Amino acid sequence: MKKHIIILALLIFVSSLVPVTAGHSNDEVIPVYAADGRVEYIMSGDAEAYYKAGWYSEPVSTMYALDGRTLVVPDRDIPAYLNVGWYENPVILLYSEDGRQLIVNKADTEAYLAVGWYTEPVKRLYASDGRQCVVGVSQVDAYLAVWWYANIDDVSRIMVSPDGKEERVFASYYAYYFSLGYTIKNSRVIDPSKPMVALTYDDGPSIHTNRILDCLQLHGAAATFFEVGNNVVNYPQITKRAFDAGMEIGNHSYSHPNFNTMSVSAALNQIASTSVAISNATGGYVPRLMRPPYGNITKELCAKIEQPSIHWSIDTRDWATRNAWQTINSVLNSVKDGDIILMHDVYSQTAEATETIVPALIERGFQLVTVSELSLYKNQPLSPGVKYHSIR
Ligand code: ZN
Repeated sequence: MKKHIIILALLIFVSSLVPVTAGHSNDEVIPVYAADGRVEYIMSGDAEAYYKAGWYSEPVSTMYALDGRTLVVPDRDIPAYLNVGWYENPVILLYSEDGRQLIVNKADTEAYLAVGWYTEPVKRLYASDGRQCVVGVSQVDAYLAVWWYANIDDVSRIMVSPDGKEERVFASYYAYYFSLGYTIKNSRVIDPSKPMVALTYDDGPSIHTNRILDCLQLHGAAATFFEVGNNVVNYPQITKRAFDAGMEIGNHSYSHPNFNTMSVSAALNQIASTSVAISNATGGYVPRLMRPPYGNITKELCAKIEQPSIHWSIDTRDWATRNAWQTINSVLNSVKDGDIILMHDVYSQTAEATETIVPALIERGFQLVTVSELSLYKNQPLSPGVKYHSIR
């Protein structure tokens, strides 16, 4: 860009349209040129007056910049101006849905708008029933607040029919497709008609997380880990392992503060910096779920966050008892279909309890799924800023 500006400055200097009268005697007939293409033949003695009135001593044209500026330049310099970002006609910048940009003649704007170009950057949004819309980026937040989604995978999945055909199915129709025997592509096989629960582990990753992951993977189970940003930075390889093994990684703030006693903007910073840490550790995954520390979240913060706020229906109180059997009993004595179970992967006793809880739940017919899978198979899409304690 800087180079263009320098070249342009040189051009303007070299070819500046200082009227040239040398070489003409006052009674010669000479042509003068207007920027709109008119030519007149005048007595050379009148030339000064013509030049002052906006006529030129050689053929000139108006050039146009993308930002609306115009410039009158000698015709012989037109190619040089074209090379540095000027145009022979008024132009406009158009945007495509996939991020491309195109500069076209302003006169052709309508034709381009008719074939999928836009006058501002846009984003395609999706609804759970398959509707789609393309809106200006400035409107995206307003749409996201009323059940539109920016990511098609948040509202649809590729499903596979019993005879192997693949089809993208929107969330509103999952239940119907399940009834036809379809399964979700690339997922563990989950039967939506059978009970399922979501084990969740908070405050990690820690030195105890790998033992929990070993157990979950051994049994083909999944869980959700609500991780604290500064622990993710300390143990990024554990976050990566969990993510790669099909676990869901949720956001549990950066330093585990009480959101009820801090400003909304400070809380949002806690959430944002944790998403960055998780994205860095996983190779780009941005958590879709948030669990506030202590389950504390104000209405004001709820209204501002981009994620659903995931709470729990069974509190094992593993952090208080630090006793594997009490943790095991608190789960097995009350578990039912659709529960979200709260534990913490920062205690050896919780890792120990997991080794009993996981096979026991499977033995009883529960499928162990992530919170997002629970939402998916229960056909209950999660919405930003809404609190969930169970998904049934
Ligand atoms: Zn916590």
